[in-house]
Amino acid sequence: MTDMPDRRLLLVHAHPDDESINNGATMARYAAEGAHVTLVTCTLGERGEVIPPELGHLSGAALGGHRLAELKDAMGALGVADFRLLGGAGRYCDSGMMGLPDNDDPACFWRADVDQAAGLLAEVIREVRPHVLVTYDDNGGYGHPDHIQAHRVAMRAVELAAGTGWDIPKVYWNRVPRSVADASFARLHADLPGLPFERAATVDDVPGVVPDEQVTTAIDGTAHAAAKAAAMRAHATQITVAEPYFVLSNALAQPLFTTEYYELVRGERPEERENDLFAGLVPGEAS
Ligand SMILES: [Zn+2]
Repeated sequence: MTDMPDRRLLLVHAHPDDESINNGATMARYAAEGAHVTLVTCTLGERGEVIPPELGHLSGAALGGHRLAELKDAMGALGVADFRLLGGAGRYCDSGMMGLPDNDDPACFWRADVDQAAGLLAEVIREVRPHVLVTYDDNGGYGHPDHIQAHRVAMRAVELAAGTGWDIPKVYWNRVPRSVADASFARLHADLPGLPFERAATVDDVPGVVPDEQVTTAIDGTAHAAAKAAAMRAHATQITVAEPYFVLSNALAQPLFTTEYYELVRGERPEERENDLFAGLVPGEAS
């Protein structure tokens, strides 16, 4: 793998669309800069609610296949060529929202053996040798079982790979600083009468909002805002975009963030907020 770029970023997500919502600007920026960007998505989102009425007939495997095509289009918009489904497409299926009987489906990701799933991800880590891994916090950002499981599997895979060939120097969780969320929702409320959406979400609906001082890293993706919006639009079964806002199937408007924020949880915590996920890493230094 000596021909791999010096900067390699791996993102671990639960469903197609999560990557574009959380990290679309970051992915587009690093891909444009020539870094190797790898996305691992754990399920095809087969239990997602479908927004467009004309696609409302899609469910289960048919929805999963459709969402895989949406993911391909989104990755095209972001310029990311390396995207994979954990264990191959259909290996783990969507677990549905927390507390539903869907959570008991033996094929669902929530029921997956964490060590086994982490072993599959560790294979990807040993192959790609990322310098940076990005995933959710231990609540999965907002409590969806597949997001919680993606966190567990990602963090376990980091441990497994560290003992067997590749120690990832930096691991981040997706975050939004409280002050940024509050200011964005204030603007949203002012703009709402002119938007194609009737109601607004609240800050509590945004995954990963934490006190500002907890946020270690801000990635300014303003130059890649159009790519992020295009990637989100590609997930048309799940997202409706009206920049700089969007809605999910709950029809509640939310801000579309083009600066994306992170908390460093593995690696030396910076004294000042970083503006680069690879800050402090010397190419070739990681082992
Ligand atoms: Zn998700």
